[in-house]
This record gives sequence, structure tokens and C-alpha cells, in this order.
Amino acid sequence: MQFSNTTLELAQTLDAQDELAHFRDAFVSDDPNLIYLDGNSLGRLPKSTVGVMQHAIEQDWGRRLIRGWNEGWIQTPLELGKKIAELIGAEPDEVIVTDSTSVNLFKLVIAALRAKPDRTKIVSDIFNFPSDLYILQGAIDLLGQKHQLELIPSIDSMTITPEAVKTAIDTHTALVCLTHVAFKSAFMYDMAAVTRQAHQAGALMLWDLSHSVGAVPVNLHEAGADLAIGCTYKYLNGGPGAPAFLYVRRDLQTELESPMWGWLGAANPFAFNLEYTPASDIRRFWVGTPPILSLKAIEPAVNLLLEAGINRLRAKSIHQSEYMIFLAEQWLTPLGFTIGSPKQADQRGSHVSLRHAEGYRMNRALIEAEAPDVTVIPDFREPDNIRFGIAPLYNSFTDIYRAMERLKTIVANRLYERYTSERSGVT
Ligand SMILES: *Cc1c(COP(=O)(O)O)cnc(C)c1O
Repeated sequence: MQFSNTTLELAQTLDAQDELAHFRDAFVSDDPNLIYLDGNSLGRLPKSTVGVMQHAIEQDWGRRLIRGWNEGWIQTPLELGKKIAELIGAEPDEVIVTDSTSVNLFKLVIAALRAKPDRTKIVSDIFNFPSDLYILQGAIDLLGQKHQLELIPSIDSMTITPEAVKTAIDTHTALVCLTHVAFKSAFMYDMAAVTRQAHQAGALMLWDLSHSVGAVPVNLHEAGADLAIGCTYKYLNGGPGAPAFLYVRRDLQTELESPMWGWLGAANPFAFNLEYTPASDIRRFWVGTPPILSLKAIEPAVNLLLEAGINRLRAKSIHQSEYMIFLAEQWLTPLGFTIGSPKQADQRGSHVSLRHAEGYRMNRALIEAEAPDVTVIPDFREPDNIRFGIAPLYNSFTDIYRAMERLKTIVANRLYERYTSERSGVT
């Protein structure tokens, strides 16, 4: 994509041409001085969620009390799963919303490894989110240290080549467990190609969709994926710590066994049997009583994504990412930045990392600005990445313009020197 100039007018023209621009009004954003580019970590609050939550608390909980369970609550994890299935190319009975991403990963990893008892290798990559790697390490420990974890390396610390994937997967591999879009560089795998490689070697394939769902089209069935997990509080805008989802392809649902035998994973929970018999469907990966209030907050946000359409969102996200990269190349690479995300759109998710040795302090300067300076919220990932999440549902081209312009000012005028590089709290 070509951009003719670096004027604010161009950003405004692009906004005027954007057929999804009106979705911005569906979100709470009452501070015109705030540029929010962290929707890949915590999505914004949809206005409709406020009313849904008020109803859930005052009416459903307040008035209906325990009757709520039979008036729809108990179905919520499966009903929401059906909606999310639409976003990830799954069948309605293959997804459930429950527990956290890390916990869901644990359940599926143990299930997968026990389904391949003769195989001793797990393949992941050096880009994976630490929690995913820790869960894999913990699973190996729990199963008696019989498995080895091999991490696919990267040559350029930005992408992973198909050859590197091929080299890592062999006939000892039980499970290939990868995050579709890398949290730091935004590198995106060719899901179908990697899944094919895993299957050719006889391994199971598990995808973490935390940074893809709601941002890029995902089609688990077309790719032939076996298992998947993902967050709902990032691009799905489900609220801080909202429950995660898990996917198990239907033909594997009776073959794989959850390591956590909770009552809601049983074939007939309300029989209160003393012996566990697992449900024969996706419910067997359900453990205990679902957090109804947190689940309720997810649906309005998913409805907005379905209404906008993932293909249109992806087209806008690519356009905006290229615009950000264009401005960064015009303004920031001359000031010592490098682009930490792949240039090719089909290898990149929906965020852009800009790297600079002083990235930590610059990130603080962006976030801790005082009016009349604009506050920009991206986030920082060690050692030097400032990560700008682009949520095409509510980010405008003007947001991107103002964020890049502000960063340029901070760097050119050395405003970041007022901040220490000592790390503190959640970054
Ligand atoms: C955000 C993220 C998680 C978070 O897991 P939680 O259990 O919700 O804390 C896990 N994996 C990946 C790849 C993520 O991006």
C-alpha cells in the first residue's frame, strides 16, 4: 500500500473513507486526549456491555437468584462457545468458554500427551508466550520428565521459517503447540501449512489464538487443527480476566480426556454420582461452576465483531498497520528505531512492534503524558519493543497518526530522559 504524505489531512481522509468507522461509537471512549493502542492486551469496553452487566447484576442475580441457573446461566459457556466458533472456523459444538487461557492450555496439553503415549517430544517456539512455555514445562514435570520440549529458533528474531518448523517436527513428536500470532513481533504462522506438517509426522496440533481471534481470520477446520485455545479479553473486548475458550475437534472429543475431572465435565452432573463418567462431548473439558458475570460481558463484544465481519476488520487492520509502518519509516527509523514486525502483511497479526534501545522510557513518556500533551497507551515488551495494538473495530487512522507524531516528539526532544529505565509493575 502506498501513502502519499505524512499530513494529518491524509489520516482524516482515510477515516472518512473507512466503512467501519462508526463502530468506534459503540465503545466507551470519553477522553479525546487518550489514544488507546493496547487492544491486543485489554480491549475497550463496548457501551452495550454496560447495560448487559447492569441487567445481569440487578435483574438476573438480584431478582432471579438461584433460578437463574435454569433460566440460561448454565448454558452460557456453550452458547458463547457457539458464537466464538463463528470467528475461528469451528463447529458450534466444538468450543466452550471456561477457565483461563493458561488453564485451558494445561488441560489440552495433558490430554494430547496422554493420547500419544509412545511419543516423547513437544515442539513449540522461542516466540511463544511464557505462560504457554511454563505450562508445557509443568506438564512434562507432571508426567514424569519423559518428554523433551524443543523450541523452534528464529534467525531474525522476528519470523520463523517453514524450514525451521520442518526440522523441529519428527516422528517422536506428540504435540506441536504454537501461538498463531506471536505476542512480541506479531509474526503470524501459515496455520494450514504448519498443521499439515504436524499431521504428516503423526503429531497433534494445538494453536493458541490469543493474539489472532477477533483480529485475523482463523479457520481451524480448513487448517485441520486438532486443538485450540484463546483469550477473550484482548481483541474480543470481553473485559479484564474474562474467561478463555478452548476448541477440540469433534472427532477427538471422545478420544481425549481432560486431566481435571470436575462435576460439570461429567456425563450427568445433576445425578450427583459418586463415580466420574466424562461427558461424551466438549463439556468434558469443563470443570466447575462458570463465572456468569464475567461470561455475560463477552457476548455484546463478540456480537460487534460478528457484525463488522472479520474479513472487513482484517482488511482495515492491514491498511492501518501499513500506515503505521509508513509513518514510522518516515519519522522514527531516522531517529534510531527499527521495525520489529514483519513487513509482509500475510506474516503479521494486528499489532506493530517498534524497537529502540530506550523503548522502555519512551513507552513511559507516551503513557504518563500530562495534558495538553496527548496520552498514548501502547505497551512494552522486553528488551526494547514498544507494541502498538491495532483494534480495527475502534482505532482510527487519526489515532495512529497522533501516536506516531507524539512518539516522534518524545524522541526528537528527548522527553523520555525524564523517566528512569527501572522496571516497575505491569508493563
Ligand atoms: C495473553 C496470552 C495468554 C494469557 O493467558 P492467561 O491465562 O489469560 O493469563 C496466554 N497465551 C498467550 C499466547 C497470550 O497472548
